[in-house]
Amino acid sequence: MLRSLPPSGVPIMPSDILAGLKDTLYGNKCLEGFKEDICRYFGVRHCFLVSSGRAALTMLLKAMRQLSPDKDEVVLPAYTSFSVPSAVVKAGLKVSLCDIDPETMSPDIDSLKESLSDKTLCLVVCHLYGYPCDMDAILRVARESGVFVIDDAAQAMGATYKGKALGTFGDAGIFSLSRGKNITTIDGGIIITDSDKIAAELSKLELKKAGFLDRLNLIFKAMIMSLLLRPPFYWIPQRLPFLKLGLSVFSTEFGLKEFTGVQAGIGRRMLRRLKQINEGRKKRAGDLMAGLSGCNGVKFPREIAGAEPVFLRLPVRLNRIDDCGKAGLGIVRSYPYPLDEIDALRPHLVSDGRNFPGAKEFSMRVWTLPTHVYVQQKDMKNILEHYSLKSEV
Ligand SMILES: *Cc1c(COP(=O)(O)O)cnc(C)c1O
Repeated sequence: MLRSLPPSGVPIMPSDILAGLKDTLYGNKCLEGFKEDICRYFGVRHCFLVSSGRAALTMLLKAMRQLSPDKDEVVLPAYTSFSVPSAVVKAGLKVSLCDIDPETMSPDIDSLKESLSDKTLCLVVCHLYGYPCDMDAILRVARESGVFVIDDAAQAMGATYKGKALGTFGDAGIFSLSRGKNITTIDGGIIITDSDKIAAELSKLELKKAGFLDRLNLIFKAMIMSLLLRPPFYWIPQRLPFLKLGLSVFSTEFGLKEFTGVQAGIGRRMLRRLKQINEGRKKRAGDLMAGLSGCNGVKFPREIAGAEPVFLRLPVRLNRIDDCGKAGLGIVRSYPYPLDEIDALRPHLVSDGRNFPGAKEFSMRVWTLPTHVYVQQKDMKNILEHYSLKSEV
């Protein structure tokens, strides 16, 4: 009756929480173990763990600024998670926007070139919903202008471009382990890099210590999440407005804290399941696309040549721009508008009077369908029905 699907999510098992608990009791060996697992998985030399994806981005930008102190602009796609500009501003830097191609969600290359200046420190590439961007084209532009590139694979852990894992392109990559990402440790962020220089700068940055209460809080949240993400119970958090579920906010009020052993214990087990989790998402996204392929006015992103997406969610673009969501089926808007429309960000924008029509159009027409493991056959049927009705009008 009250069955309700989260827009995204990954199950946390009681055994995951036990692993986290055990690790916190017997010291933090697991932290080093998790870092080694990540380095091995992605074939990189350095890994840093922090309290969130936003914190990971902030730390990286600070490290890059140390290496290029006279540059203070960061190029971002005009449509992405509000966490990304939050991190740039937290690092004390300015945001320069570039448009996206609404067909592929990848940066518009002409617009990208216009966004660069001699003050550009870095370019952040975001692979939304697990769809890889056109890395060859982007890296070519970056190489010509000599800017750093951060490969933000917060939504794309396990996806590849021409056989190479996202997160490993450019100078450094990040992943998020927050709720609603490919795998989760409740909160958490990962930085990976092969650059010794960036790693050396990162090692110098201080993180706030995580205390006993932080650990307790994480365990408590893990237990709650393990229960409430399930469709019979998800209506409960959905009706608690103070949880601000699914809201992407622009805010620099977040900590730069240590990652804990509790999280590493959960993370090590999650990483082992990543392939299987991604396979499941791919299968369900494929079924949804096949089912919706005949609907009028419904489009899916065009995949870039060489891309293997992981479908964290399945974005659909509709011809119509009215409300076509359905919370109970996990069908939601992702980010309500492009970054240039965030009032609080305006003072930090490199304002040059440019427009971002691709980002605007995409933001008005996109809805995301859930692809996680709780989406069952009958949910698929309901989602398909919902959109066949919408497409008839
Ligand atoms: C979620 C997300 C982040 C930030 O991760 P948090 O762990 O939520 O701070 C950064 N970039 C993108 C593209 C994201 O989707």
